[in-house]
Amino acid sequence: MIPYGRQDINDADIKAVVEVLRSDFLTQGPRVPSFENGVVGYTGASYATAVNSATSALHIACLALGVGPGDVVWTSPISFVASANCALYCGASVDFVDVDPKSGNMSLAELRAKLEAAAETDCLPKVIIPVHLCGEPCDMAAIHALSLKYGFKIIEDASHAIGSTYDGVPVGSCKFSDVTVFSFHPVKIITSAEGGMAMTNSEEIHKRLQLLRSHGVTREPDQMTDVPEGAWVYEQVALGFNYRLTDLQAALGLSQLGRADEFVERRQYLAGLYDERLAAMPVTPLERNVFGRSALHLYVIRLDGCLAHKRGQVFEAMRAAGIGVNIHYIPIHTQPYYRQRGFSEGMFPRSEEYYAEALTLPLHPGLTEKDVSTVCQALQDALS
Ligand SMILES: *Cc1c(COP(=O)(O)O)cnc(C)c1O
Repeated sequence: MIPYGRQDINDADIKAVVEVLRSDFLTQGPRVPSFENGVVGYTGASYATAVNSATSALHIACLALGVGPGDVVWTSPISFVASANCALYCGASVDFVDVDPKSGNMSLAELRAKLEAAAETDCLPKVIIPVHLCGEPCDMAAIHALSLKYGFKIIEDASHAIGSTYDGVPVGSCKFSDVTVFSFHPVKIITSAEGGMAMTNSEEIHKRLQLLRSHGVTREPDQMTDVPEGAWVYEQVALGFNYRLTDLQAALGLSQLGRADEFVERRQYLAGLYDERLAAMPVTPLERNVFGRSALHLYVIRLDGCLAHKRGQVFEAMRAAGIGVNIHYIPIHTQPYYRQRGFSEGMFPRSEEYYAEALTLPLHPGLTEKDVSTVCQALQDALS
């Protein structure tokens, strides 16, 4: 099976992890701040908080922005469920903004219209979470301008997008957002096995994220409520979690970070090969590199409209041919859990249309030119 995504681990990555095994710290130790500083350097943001997953990062990012019961958070239906669940963890409710089927990203026109309507009924969102689908950046300057007009905060779900740039600036710089979240799951651009990171330019948000990562417990006298009796005193000042990354994971992540650009270039090259081979087929790749460079976490095609009814058959035929195709994503609002919460099919028609036509082809740095040919041939056979 040619998988749709796969990590690329080299000897230097292995050496970095083994070194940690021989060191004093296995859980959070000196490698965690090294990894955080590495991503700060890579993105240009001021602060980073490494955690055990992007899901955890989204959760504490919502909390750090004050999301709680009575608040509403908006995100895209075309994402992994974690983009929406984070708001529910905080006791807030979730709503969705329909996508532009050409990119699968949140539609700016839909967002504008929905904000206008929400302003009239006084139910504006506290936070909006745009998702850079496949690594293709959303139009962040435009979303940021809307945040100033309507007073919401922004968390970029950049789980797909470390290595992407927007208007010449790395995604993660937080130039147009309060927090940006990365995932280091093995299928993403770089990996720490499991892991995530929350970037921000606000010292206050950063301190909050650091606190929430580890039980809400501080040893910093300036963060304490009382004057400490002695150097042994730690204080719990918030209800936090154990969301820490280990030094083993941080060492792997830091080693991988050095290869991020190489990975993205390889992904862009392979995507270019796909583009050429698919040009004559009745399929359309998602729009990309519109506002900058996409890290190309995923290569998604849409079957041309009249073929959408065959998507299931094409999927099965390609799987049978040993091609690990996938679907990103089933619209979140159609999941049973969300249907129980009042959502139903038909509510976000562009997302549902996108979903019906979408197919993810394998893309990862270890894919060969021959693999691309094999995938394209299998697609051609499946379509005819
Ligand atoms: C992978 C992913 C997540 C969750 O990442 P984890 O690190 O596995 O928790 C969240 N959002 C999106 C868009 C993702 O693709």
